[in-house]
Amino acid sequence: MREKKIVTAGDRVYLKFFDLDFFHEKAKEANARLVPFKDFDEGKFKQEISDADAIVVIDRPLQKDHLQAMTCCKIILALEVGYDFIDVAAATEKGIVVSNVPTYGTEQVALHALSLILACQRELKTLMAETSAGGWNYNVCKPLWELKGKKLGIIGLGRIGRNLVKKVQGLEVEPIAYDPYLSDDIFQMLGVKRCYDLEDLLDAADIISLHVPLTPETHHMIGERELARMKNRAILVNTCRGKVIDGPALFKALNDGQIAGAGLDVLEKEPPDPEEPLLNCKNLIVTPHAAWYSEESLDRLKNFGMDEVVRVLNGKRPRFVVNPEVFFQR
Ligand code: NAD
Repeated sequence: MREKKIVTAGDRVYLKFFDLDFFHEKAKEANARLVPFKDFDEGKFKQEISDADAIVVIDRPLQKDHLQAMTCCKIILALEVGYDFIDVAAATEKGIVVSNVPTYGTEQVALHALSLILACQRELKTLMAETSAGGWNYNVCKPLWELKGKKLGIIGLGRIGRNLVKKVQGLEVEPIAYDPYLSDDIFQMLGVKRCYDLEDLLDAADIISLHVPLTPETHHMIGERELARMKNRAILVNTCRGKVIDGPALFKALNDGQIAGAGLDVLEKEPPDPEEPLLNCKNLIVTPHAAWYSEESLDRLKNFGMDEVVRVLNGKRPRFVVNPEVFFQR
């Protein structure tokens, strides 16, 4: 029987997993060998994936021309929640299953979003700068407003958005949300006030937390116009995808005091250039795409992900399918 081939690709695969022993061992369950691809050369990449049976990837683009080069691929696994770097339609056309790992870090990302909200609201960055500089004067963080009674606007009420709703329940914060793809009963079930238009949420919310996938519709969903609409005391938190916010517009809004502060776990370019202006904003907290991380979620990520690849290579149906239509055409 022919030995199958699983290719791993994308810098963040190797940043998350320094040692790939688990992946090599798991590949054997599908009579496959693992080939870690680390080169930046696109020609070599296309050649490597041309006879791959499976690809496990984070953030390395897999566009139509890559998919055309593949001759026997059964599954592309995005080893994360987002899969915006994969041309899903082209994969479906080729009969390739696209899968992701949607649940491994839901709890952590919601917790991280809440941490950014609290850190901004309690002005931790300003207060820490004061103590690091040898000072002891709480007045540096004035004015600071209470969270109680404020409105938390959630954009994208999926897994992470809903988890965040649960987390703020004890904080006496009122959750409101905008998600045009859900029916009213979901909002009712969660006890979340629905905003049918994004503008209504921007007008009403004191804190805004973003939890949408990156799509052509959500690209720069928060730009100059939206930032201008937010309250001057508003806090903006983004743990979803950097490109959902127009970075230069946010920089301007923060510097001009159009909004009070922001917390970002994701940036338009990752890692950012050292001269990225946002990194020096005093009313902004930035973390390095770490919201998903805990030792437990790292474990779930590799287990759930590789289980999926092994299932498909052994002729079984995957548990999470991004493009279920691939089965109809079969
Ligand atoms: P999900 O698919 O469960 O939820 C996304 C929600 O967004 C859905 O309910 C969908 O209807 C809604 N949506 C889609 N387009 C929208 C639009 N134009 N306006 C408003 N709502 C819209 O996904 P999730 O598990 O909640 O994850 C959300 C995002 O978080 C992912 O796409 C991923 O990019 C990001 N993420 C980041 C990290 C991190 O470490 N920072 C980790 C995991 C996930």
